Amino acid sequence: MKKITSSHNPMHIVTTEPVISAQNLNHYFGEGTLRKQALFDINLDIYSGDIIIMTGPSGSGKTTLLTLMGGLRSAQEGSLKILGQEMCSASKKQLRDVRRQIGYIFQAHNLMTFLTAKENVRMSLELHDEFLNQDMDAKAISMLESVGLGNRADYYPDSLSGGQKQRVAIARALISQPKIVLADEPTAALDKKSGRDVVELMQKLAKEQGCTILLVTHDNRILDIADRIIYMEDGHLISDGVDAAAKVG
Ligand code: ADP
Ligand code: MG
Repeated sequence: MKKITSSHNPMHIVTTEPVISAQNLNHYFGEGTLRKQALFDINLDIYSGDIIIMTGPSGSGKTTLLTLMGGLRSAQEGSLKILGQEMCSASKKQLRDVRRQIGYIFQAHNLMTFLTAKENVRMSLELHDEFLNQDMDAKAISMLESVGLGNRADYYPDSLSGGQKQRVAIARALISQPKIVLADEPTAALDKKSGRDVVELMQKLAKEQGCTILLVTHDNRILDIADRIIYMEDGHLISDGVDAAAKVG
């Protein structure tokens, strides 16, 4: 437990657990003589509602850390708590329960090409029992409207632009109101303007829903949307906050 001042509302003192907490976290790939350490002694606490940008050179361990946090890869050594659940030695069911509360946005949008925009967004609701008796089509359309694609609901991904596809991916990630959104280089395949639009949209929706965003990027044009910037190098988290901004800036 820690007393913190919310970055959005400095007058509002809240006492809260971090939504993500890593302590002495290590990670290794390969076995025997091929075993290679990818993460070294990561210590990091992230609090509710913040937008964190993670940056650093290619190969520095950003994706590895993000996939561990998302329960998409098993945590091996140290401690990693996500929404209060310890991920090291968690059962399959515990991992699944955590994953349900997380929205994912990847560099490539990963939309199903044989489903329309609406069906792609709706699919994410179908994974949650609590939405099954609601009008999921209406919810999916309204979510597409909030990313500016109300008139594209019945389009297939192949007939949408890169930026539009990524906006569908955002709608899909946020429709179930996840507590955490993990985004791995979501603007990498987009031009400057679409990239900016996409992150501003993520920022707006996340602030409305009070969700925490952890976004990996090389794109220093979007750093200003962050409440906090962290910098990785060679598997180490080497700076946090103002120093990190200076490193990329
Ligand atoms: P980043 O996302 O910062 O570019 P990654 O987390 O993808 O970095 O990679 C960190 C290190 O771990 C790199 O040296 C990479 O080669 C290695 N690595 C990543 N994924 C695997 C894997 N599945 N098997 C073996 N090594 C991996
Ligand atoms: Mg990566």
